[in-house]
Amino acid sequence: MKGTKLRIHFWGEKILRTKCRQVKEVNDEIRKLLDQMCVLMKNCDGMGLAANQAGLDISLVVVNSGKEILKLINPKILKREGSTEFEEGCLSFPGLYINIKRARKVWVSYWNEKGEPLTIEASGILAVVLQHEIDHINGVVFIDRLPLWGRIKLRKRLKEIKGKYKNGMSE
Ligand code: ZN
Repeated sequence: MKGTKLRIHFWGEKILRTKCRQVKEVNDEIRKLLDQMCVLMKNCDGMGLAANQAGLDISLVVVNSGKEILKLINPKILKREGSTEFEEGCLSFPGLYINIKRARKVWVSYWNEKGEPLTIEASGILAVVLQHEIDHINGVVFIDRLPLWGRIKLRKRLKEIKGKYKNGMSE
């Protein structure tokens, strides 16, 4: 893809079920990977991207808040409040949009690009995107948040995605 060697990994590829490892030291390599992830997110017109969606098993997330691009290293949800439901899509599940219940507000700890520990308080769409992406780096995808009957209803669609995007190639 233009501007980066990274590519989106799709449902059916093992890396999406991989729990990403913590970053021990923020260095140029990490900063470069975050930049590459931002390029990939922009190219795909995504609101957020987790490292394992790009084939990397490290705890990195990028989010487009609408106002700015956030780069989060080792993000972790400290606290959740309230509940909301929002129609979510995912770059790893092309064409699939489903309503998911999540917390309305979250507090997330992370390191920035300089390795400084910070906390962000988020609500609305930003809170939803952060919860979606932090799930990813823990090996959890949005369909896991559905009740069982909801997942059963999607079985055929999921099989189609798995077949169509095998090895990252669309037929
Ligand atoms: Zn996703």
